[in-house]
Amino acid sequence: MLTEFDLIEKFFTQTKQRADVLLGVGDDAALLQPPAGQILVATTDTLITGVHFPEDTDPVDIGYKTLAVNLSDLAAMGAEPAWVMLALTLPQADIAWLTKFRRGFFELIDQYNLQLVGGDITRGSLLVITVEAFGFVSQEKALRRSGARVDDRIYVTGTLGDAGLALELMKDKSPTESRLNRPTPRISTGLALRDIASSCIDISDGLAADLTHILKASNVGARINVEDLPLSPALKKHRSPEEAWKLALSAGDDYELCFTVPPEHEAKLIAALKNIDAGYTHIGNIEAQAGLRLMRHDGTLFALKNNGFRHF
Ligand code: ADP
Ligand code: MG
Repeated sequence: MLTEFDLIEKFFTQTKQRADVLLGVGDDAALLQPPAGQILVATTDTLITGVHFPEDTDPVDIGYKTLAVNLSDLAAMGAEPAWVMLALTLPQADIAWLTKFRRGFFELIDQYNLQLVGGDITRGSLLVITVEAFGFVSQEKALRRSGARVDDRIYVTGTLGDAGLALELMKDKSPTESRLNRPTPRISTGLALRDIASSCIDISDGLAADLTHILKASNVGARINVEDLPLSPALKKHRSPEEAWKLALSAGDDYELCFTVPPEHEAKLIAALKNIDAGYTHIGNIEAQAGLRLMRHDGTLFALKNNGFRHF
């Protein structure tokens, strides 16, 4: 039988070390040195089997997604990711499962030059994975939800609704399955937006719900044109326009960024995002009147009943 210490050594020890990690895995806590003049950005997210992913999800994808959703939060703050902690609750020490989980998790660790600096392993009846991710940003450049102003333009990265389509088509092996299981954290977009965006959020619960967080924090309202929502060819093929807009607005799990840009920063935005392949689309504008208005191009309202995922 492998003890928890054997598991840590076998699966969660990294040879590559960052210079800003004075002490990583192996003591009671890690000793970490943020760069001079920068502040620490900290986030955590938990994934629970049966709630955040179906029980039969490939463990490689679980490892990837559990880190990706945390990096997405750092991206939404304009932070440069650096350190990660991992708390695992496992029903049993399943070597095959852990080997696959590790592969997905370390794929992103390596891609972004991160270091796993600590964690915890416990036995429990349900598979639960909690990741904490830490990054850096200079204080005045952090992208908050509260900075949107009247007349700012509203943008989203990538395409929306693909993760929602994958959930609906699950049994038929959706063409957008990788968008659900392996969301791409928009780190380089977040970094590029630091001197440009007035507010930013990552879309985890659905655009309508997440944009509403920006509106409330900024004390403004917005109008978006549903016909301008960026939709993938796969989503357009499998769903009517109305159904596709509904998924794009309320399905969640896309992990794209939604951000606002003052009109005078438009040229800077185009230059800054020119070489970033995530792409971005103008979907509407910030207005003084509170609330979110969903419009068609002909000026009629698009009605949305349920505007996002809620745990409670
Ligand atoms: P303690 O009992 O003092 O809290 P642990 O025995 O839980 O310490 O952990 C020993 C070391 O291993 C610590 O540095 C901890 O951060 C690290 N660790 C434990 N679990 C993991 C994990 N899943 N991934 C990475 N590091 C881990
Ligand atoms: Mg201890």
